Amino acid sequence: MSGKKALEQFQKIRATRDIISGIHNYCDRWCERCAFTARCSVYAMGEEEEHIREISEEPERDLAEYVGSMLRDAMELLHDMALEHGVDLDSMEDDGFEMEKPGKKNYLVRKADEHSKWLIKWLDENELAINEKLSALEIAAKIDFLALSDALEVLKWFMHFIAVKFSRAVLPPFEDTPEGRHDNNGSAKIAILAINRTVDALTIVLFFMPEHEDQLLAALVRLGRIKKRALKDFPEAMDFKRPGFDD
Ligand code: SF4
Repeated sequence: MSGKKALEQFQKIRATRDIISGIHNYCDRWCERCAFTARCSVYAMGEEEEHIREISEEPERDLAEYVGSMLRDAMELLHDMALEHGVDLDSMEDDGFEMEKPGKKNYLVRKADEHSKWLIKWLDENELAINEKLSALEIAAKIDFLALSDALEVLKWFMHFIAVKFSRAVLPPFEDTPEGRHDNNGSAKIAILAINRTVDALTIVLFFMPEHEDQLLAALVRLGRIKKRALKDFPEAMDFKRPGFDD
């Protein structure tokens, strides 16, 4: 779909569905488990795209290639729209305008990144033990099997999410006012909520795999420290109202 078509599609969705504006900005992106799919424009756009693909019997597209082409189209559209408003984005690129890079040196980003690296390694090194535990539970107690499976899914889902959201939260605010810090606080809040979900999931894994106590406890302590620091650095974050989720 071209950028122009995507914009038309977006406008049609906004006009015909009871969309919650901006709900996708501070969600956990776990659409499969989201109660608001019917009111989310991003989800609706994905559905429309899939529908068009099915009708035209196009083969399923490579996601990275598809996102890349969408971005290129959207950039072209943005340039055209800016020109219509008398702004030449191409000339701005020579004016020393540089996007601030996400704060890789920031404590929250570094530690969240440390968590994801540790988790990847732990899951990889203990794949056999995890599968054996799951198989044993599936036979002995289905509910325990489901609880551990779910905890592992949660850990994997939020593995990189926390660092990504903190990277966004620590970008310089639009201006140093509560309104200007809106996106910083929203991004920090969703990162903190992801930490909570990860802590709960790790606790369940620890319950079923106590022989991994040393590593799992160290991970829980690290997450506790990250959360404490995030609440200190973003004192307004937990008051942030996420559209839809906190209404
Ligand atoms: S709000 Fe829900 S449906 Fe929309 S992108 Fe987020 S998780 Fe997916």
